[in-house]
Amino acid sequence: MSNAISVHRNEIEKLTSSMSDTTLMPVLFVGHGSPMNAIGENEFTGGWRKIGASIGQPRAILCISAHWETMGTHITAMQQPRTIHDFCGFPEQLYSVQYPAPGSQQVASETREQLSPVKVELDQNWGLDHGCWSVLRHMFPDATIPVMQLSLDYTRSPQAHYDLARNLSGLRRKGILVIGSGNMVHNLRMVNWYKPSGGHDWAEETNEKIKKLILARDHKTLTCYASPGQEMALAIPTAEHYLPLLYALALQEKNESVSIFNDKVVYGSVSMTSIIIN
Ligand code: ZN
Repeated sequence: MSNAISVHRNEIEKLTSSMSDTTLMPVLFVGHGSPMNAIGENEFTGGWRKIGASIGQPRAILCISAHWETMGTHITAMQQPRTIHDFCGFPEQLYSVQYPAPGSQQVASETREQLSPVKVELDQNWGLDHGCWSVLRHMFPDATIPVMQLSLDYTRSPQAHYDLARNLSGLRRKGILVIGSGNMVHNLRMVNWYKPSGGHDWAEETNEKIKKLILARDHKTLTCYASPGQEMALAIPTAEHYLPLLYALALQEKNESVSIFNDKVVYGSVSMTSIIIN
């Protein structure tokens, strides 16, 4: 990219960030599922396209993906994040996919300020992993909106993630779309490749239970999902695909409701269920 273009972009960013906008940008949690969704056309990619079209043109996107875990909290701050193909054993076609959305140092800095006093590292190495681009490719196919990723600090408890996420609320008034990308139910050891549609009983039950808790606004129980008696251990054996949901829920304001879309369990143990808060 030429310097002239990048200077111009910085000026536009400064102008748009200083605009006072009381409109709240919606918040999303998306179940991303298999990386193959990036190049497929199915009911889920259709759902992503529809939601993207309904949102219009955010100033920028901040994505919290299950696939970027770090010690401490990091945010991508490069002008041109690379497309990371963080998977193996998939068809060659998938490795040639690029999602050339720009980054934004300006938005990365603003996000860092919002999260203060939590220390946030400005990252120049990561990029966009498949939890992010496999969805955005369908949701915002032009790849013109700046995209940042915020990492999951693996030293934090679920409650600490929820508390941190609440500090992102100011970004919504600045036209920034926050997207958590994971899967509410995600147990790859229990995947049944012969069952592309539908889940094990426990997976279906947990999907229903989580939806009910979301609609009842019971964020406390959702944050304590690993407590004894919750019986979610089979559905959520590890935290990373579930935590992005807490980032979305933490941003729900009093007068906002949740709509559920792409509500389905696939391959026995992966839930594609997604939400939009607005
Ligand atoms: Zn994943």
